[in-house]
Amino acid sequence: MTDKPTQAFDTLQIHAGANPDPATGARQVPIYQTTAYVFRDAEHAAALFNLQEVGYIYSRLTNPTVSALAERIVALEGGVGGICCSSGHAAQIMALFPLMGPGRNIVVSTRLYGGTVTQFSHTIKRFGWSAKFVDFDDTDAVKAAIDDDTRAVFCESIANPGGYITDLDAIAAISNDAGVPLIVDNTSATPYLCNPIKHGATLVVHSTTKYLTGNGTVTGGAVVDSGNFDWSASDKFPSLSTPEDAYHGLNFHAALGPMAFTFHSIAVGLRDLGMTMNPQAAHYTLMGIETLSLRMDKHVANAEKVANWLENDDRIEGVTYAGLKSSPYYDRVKNICPKGAGALFTVAVKGGYDACVKLVDSLELFSHVANLGDTRSLIIHSASTTHRQLTEEQQEAAGAAPNVVRLSIGIEDADDIIADLDQALSKATS
Ligand SMILES: *Cc1c(COP(=O)(O)O)cnc(C)c1O
Repeated sequence: MTDKPTQAFDTLQIHAGANPDPATGARQVPIYQTTAYVFRDAEHAAALFNLQEVGYIYSRLTNPTVSALAERIVALEGGVGGICCSSGHAAQIMALFPLMGPGRNIVVSTRLYGGTVTQFSHTIKRFGWSAKFVDFDDTDAVKAAIDDDTRAVFCESIANPGGYITDLDAIAAISNDAGVPLIVDNTSATPYLCNPIKHGATLVVHSTTKYLTGNGTVTGGAVVDSGNFDWSASDKFPSLSTPEDAYHGLNFHAALGPMAFTFHSIAVGLRDLGMTMNPQAAHYTLMGIETLSLRMDKHVANAEKVANWLENDDRIEGVTYAGLKSSPYYDRVKNICPKGAGALFTVAVKGGYDACVKLVDSLELFSHVANLGDTRSLIIHSASTTHRQLTEEQQEAAGAAPNVVRLSIGIEDADDIIADLDQALSKATS
């Protein structure tokens, strides 16, 4: 949360946010397994609580291991500050919290992770917030949906369950004209494949559970602030631009400038909502993130190979991967995610629901799990699992029709992945 870094991605993913431990010289970031930090004296304690001096107080707010990870993700996304929290879903609430209030709404893409659809269509109503779901390819509809109570626009860069790429520049221009921040969930793309801030995003959120950790060990989330939004340009964001009652009347934007959002997220958000990442989780994610670019290159190469093979197989009805020339979103890849369209896509299988269930049960290398972004290849049949409670129409709208499976292509040998799909498809469609 210092100056913007000048080093390249491959260097930052290993070094950003981490210096040898000042106490011991430990080269790897230690797991600071502590709840509290001893104040030098009463004056030091007072300065910390007044935000006059930055330092550690209590691990619900900040912890050195977690801070190293936050700083690294901020560097990779090209932001000015940010926080880590307990899960991707926590990150979404943490991103919205300083912006929202009862009666306020967000304008969101219809193409979102299933859990996010549920969080936005039901759970946030308990806070008096609401979401308007819009097709983000219909830019007029996005514009029309933004009203006086809208406090953010929300989408995914590469949208789960795959095959859709958001025209971030167009959506950022609309948000900017309306004077509201654009929040982009960059989980499926990672900062290696897509930089939402370069395309005009105000905030970037992550489920670090997925590719950033990369090995399916811990849940976590992150929020990164670009530092580019003027919270005082209107009266829409009083928590940031007027005296905040929840923090003895501090005007965060006046006092902290581009770090207003980050400090509010720590001093009020993490303090009162408590959606804190623990240092063990930060450790696992720090281990994973060191190899992010290497893994993503291999994920993309494998996904391209597997998607191409599937598209040309006559047991398959269709493949939604945006890296295929047949995808309606193929032209957006060059601009939004030039290093590749990720490794997540859906496949429609001939033989419908029964064939999909048999396919999932016949695979040996693939794991049938409700996760994505692991080194291992993963599959899920949404219609019989995560989307079971929906009607067939709702399943289709969510890209989870009964004849569709979602693949998260891992970094095993591509030929082994294809061989496993080949044998399982034979059993499923015979
Ligand atoms: C998994 C996921 C989330 C939710 O993250 P959790 O860490 O599971 O809470 C949000 N958005 C996307 C795109 C995801 O893939």
